[in-house]
Amino acid sequence: MTEGKSFFIDTTKCTACRGCQMACKQWNQRATEKTVNRGSHQNPPDLSFNTWKLVRFSEIPGDKVAWYFFPDQCRHCLTPPCKEVADGKAKGAIAQDEKTGAVVFNPKVKMKPGDYKEIREACPYDIPRYLPGTGIMAKCTMCFDRIKEGMSPACVKTCPTGAMSFGDREEMLKKANKRLGEVQGIYKEAMLANPEDVRVIYLLADDPKKYHKFAVAENTIGISRKMALKRLFQPLRTLNPWVG
Ligand code: SF4
Ligand code: SF4
Repeated sequence: MTEGKSFFIDTTKCTACRGCQMACKQWNQRATEKTVNRGSHQNPPDLSFNTWKLVRFSEIPGDKVAWYFFPDQCRHCLTPPCKEVADGKAKGAIAQDEKTGAVVFNPKVKMKPGDYKEIREACPYDIPRYLPGTGIMAKCTMCFDRIKEGMSPACVKTCPTGAMSFGDREEMLKKANKRLGEVQGIYKEAMLANPEDVRVIYLLADDPKKYHKFAVAENTIGISRKMALKRLFQPLRTLNPWVG
């Protein structure tokens, strides 16, 4: 499925204000987490069952210290490896909406810890999380309940700098490529992260590893080819099973 919706996240405009992280929690009614000062702007330290969007922060030392901001979330892969694995474990645990392309975990389908481990390992971006003792997995839903009503995801709506955009995939790809052309004069290493494979297209100004270990998938092409042969579409059964 190459149509549907997509995000464009321009990290050159991100100020790490964490508005998107907070808006995600608020809209999706995710519990807060106790945080401690670990000497980093990144807090909590990682994605979790209750934190679906996390603004990652890294500081690269040198003559001139450089800061890298990366608003991390599920990429809503065009051919999601998590779904391929889940389909072999528990049908309906992960669904992909035919119209938008949103990939949504169903909290009503419980997974065994070993199956969850395989699903997380299949994700090229290390996104799925699990609440031990419950069998429930969680991650970004693309704010499916909002986008179905024609609204943008809560994180996009909140972003004050214009770093986040959401819309028809073709339009987002055009916007991403146009902006890439604009910034390449300043940032020689600028690139789009796996734009042909994902619905969350990041514009990075530098080496992806400086942003996050999983900013770019190393094996996405191989996975996509394999997945293309097996891909199954399955309609979503609920608007947003996480809320209400
Ligand atoms: S980023 Fe990971 S969790 Fe999200 S759709 Fe792709 S494989 Fe699944
Ligand atoms: S709301 Fe926008 S500027 Fe703030 S951290 Fe998120 S993407 Fe960056």
